[in-house]
Amino acid sequence: MTPTLSFYGATRTVTGSKHLLKVGNAQILIDCGLFQGAKHLRDLNWDEFPFVPHELDAVVLTHAHVDHIGMLPRLVKDGFNGPIYATAATIALCRISLPDSGRLQEEEARFQNKRGLRAGAEPLYTEDDAYRVLKLMKPVKYHERHDLPGGASWVYKPAGHILGSAFVEMALPNGEILLMSGDLGRYDTPLIKDPEVVDYCDYLVIESTYGNRIHSDEDPMARLEEACAWAWQNGGTILVPSFAIGRTQELMYFFKQLQDAGRMPRIPIYIDSPMAVSATHAYAQAQDEHDEELKISIAEGSSELEPANLNYVRDREQSKALNRQDGPQIIISGSGMANGGRIKHHLRSRLGDENTFVLFTGYQAEGTLGRDLIEGQPTVSIFGEDVTVRARVDKLNSLSAHCDQKEMMNWLSFFRTPPKKTFIVHGEPEAQEVLAAKIKDELGWEVNIPEFGDTTELVN
Ligand SMILES: [Zn+2]
Repeated sequence: MTPTLSFYGATRTVTGSKHLLKVGNAQILIDCGLFQGAKHLRDLNWDEFPFVPHELDAVVLTHAHVDHIGMLPRLVKDGFNGPIYATAATIALCRISLPDSGRLQEEEARFQNKRGLRAGAEPLYTEDDAYRVLKLMKPVKYHERHDLPGGASWVYKPAGHILGSAFVEMALPNGEILLMSGDLGRYDTPLIKDPEVVDYCDYLVIESTYGNRIHSDEDPMARLEEACAWAWQNGGTILVPSFAIGRTQELMYFFKQLQDAGRMPRIPIYIDSPMAVSATHAYAQAQDEHDEELKISIAEGSSELEPANLNYVRDREQSKALNRQDGPQIIISGSGMANGGRIKHHLRSRLGDENTFVLFTGYQAEGTLGRDLIEGQPTVSIFGEDVTVRARVDKLNSLSAHCDQKEMMNWLSFFRTPPKKTFIVHGEPEAQEVLAAKIKDELGWEVNIPEFGDTTELVN
């Protein structure tokens, strides 16, 4: 039987990654991500899975971002009971983020019921569902071949995107190679290893978040230094909506560097996100994943992820108290696109104040509060209330866990022969079209942009 690959998420959008590989009699799901952003996308999370969860033989994960793992609790709730393979660091991060995601779903349903926003609102899944997922997870090391039912096997290769992130290099029974990029990271970023060079595959599925863009070469340290000076002079509050995993740790690294260089006043820093607090500990502990620089400084006894004046805020009451506290201060809170989490409460109480500086740190998907704010909307809606924006709003342009077009083309340039088929996923349509044209023009490869539900045969 010819192996097939079906695309059930991250098609012409950046979230909801789900790819179903059928090989022999087996069905392997690669990633099981939550759709995020605009309502029409979030609504997809409530649809039935386009496959039967209990018929899946295994799940293989690329990394622990919610748009790649956030539907696992629903998958288990709907009957999946097989192994879920991931790197050890991905499992460590899932332990942090999945129960949190379950809690958020429950909180959201409670909030909607309380405010009468959605009568009889049920959570998509619960914290308990998330714990059932964790019991099914099995660690797999980088570069260690692992067999799957149906005669396929795979190895993980470092993707340089976040802690534990990996490409899935799948060997099909006929010896052909299917490479799933997951999210592709960047070279020379602090903390984690670079993406591994790949020079061959028969079928390639590649992300395209920044397929139409080149990251700014601005110096993030200089921007943070300027923001801190502003907060110090104005007694202002810097609100940083930050991805709990990866970005928050990078910020800690930059603040520490600024302090060590005498470029930052003594401003208290609050990480107001239980998930970010736990993720920071996971980053500090996962020594196998650290790049050489970080290894050396940790060996020297320095704590690169803990700047001075850092306060961890786990407790909800403490978080509420922060809302009433005057600056200067830096509050880092999730989610990174301000579409959920504690940052929404901070934004609701501080956006109307011109002594607030909202500093975004990464990609803002269509339909998110973050996108509205960076586009300069004078009024935004938070929890059904209109909030006038008087705060300063800006974005750090150079921080990203995703490679840009140039870095992507560089990574692809190592391939010795063109893949037979290349599929572009995980990008908004414009980014995908631009990247597809670039790959066709410069490399001469055949490129496809799959639609939701498309199935392709992996044949000679
Ligand atoms: Zn990711």
